[in-house]
Amino acid sequence: MTMFGKGKIWFNGKLVDWKKAQIHVLSHVIHYGSSVFEGVRCYETPKGPAIFRADAHIDRLFDSAKIYRMEIPFTKAQITKAMVDVVRLNKLKSCYIRPFAFRGYGAMGLNPLKNPVQACIAAWNWGAYLGEESLKKGISVRVSSWQRPAPNTFPTLAKAGGNYLNGSLMKMEAIDAGFDEAIALDTHGYVSEGSGENIFIVKNGVIFTPPSSSAILAGITRHAVFVFAREMGIEIRQQVLPRESLYIADEVFFSGTASEIVPVTTVDNIKVGNGLRGPVTERLQKAFFEIVRGETPDRFNWLTPVK
Ligand code: PMP
Repeated sequence: MTMFGKGKIWFNGKLVDWKKAQIHVLSHVIHYGSSVFEGVRCYETPKGPAIFRADAHIDRLFDSAKIYRMEIPFTKAQITKAMVDVVRLNKLKSCYIRPFAFRGYGAMGLNPLKNPVQACIAAWNWGAYLGEESLKKGISVRVSSWQRPAPNTFPTLAKAGGNYLNGSLMKMEAIDAGFDEAIALDTHGYVSEGSGENIFIVKNGVIFTPPSSSAILAGITRHAVFVFAREMGIEIRQQVLPRESLYIADEVFFSGTASEIVPVTTVDNIKVGNGLRGPVTERLQKAFFEIVRGETPDRFNWLTPVK
């Protein structure tokens, strides 16, 4: 089984050794942050490994590239097949997959259009992002002193490398202050999202989450939460949320590919509800893990088998 640092990486259409997947130090991406990427998970199921929502991730990768006028020199079908190949050839079962594209080596200077677009896919074992225990016990979160970017500055619907400078500031500040994760507000002071997660609030049996105009990434796990909630008959609303709605919520949870569905049990050291994972969060986690692990039929056609 491939651990981080070993195995093969798909690099512009060829499988190369992990250590040989290198680029020049003067590549555009290093100086100007010009990359777009995805984080995808593959889970072990009774029928073998299966990639969760491969199509949605590849669509978002190409959308991110489109926003930045980046032509990925491969088709969506080629990238999807390559993701499957990387998992299979590295003999991975349950893993994290990182497809990405970036502006490579060519001219120096801000204009990226003379630099070749390169594409890569790596995969490795990666357990629960915020710790295995967090899925049950929940995590502690603080509202960040950093805000998400204002509209028409950095497009947050693009999953672009440069956006994560903002997320890193949030994450470092939170860790330094002894919290597990941070929540950013947008530049209007409304709740936006975590450094790498979408956020949900449950209040009086209704689920609320910020809309795309609150500087969020339109998460694929977030979309899955909508699908599950509707299936369960739980009302779910996209709504601008004031900061204090976090403090008076019955439940708060994050969603994300890396973090999956994780309860937030304190915000700014204030207990959310009774400080334990709430029933709505638990039901959604159950629905999520049953489907990704192939324990129930793939009724939404969300799994791509690795054969
Ligand atoms: N917001 C940000 C900033 C993220 O990096 C992520 C992780 N990709 C998410 C939300 C959650 O998105 P998804 O469910 O598609 O992983």
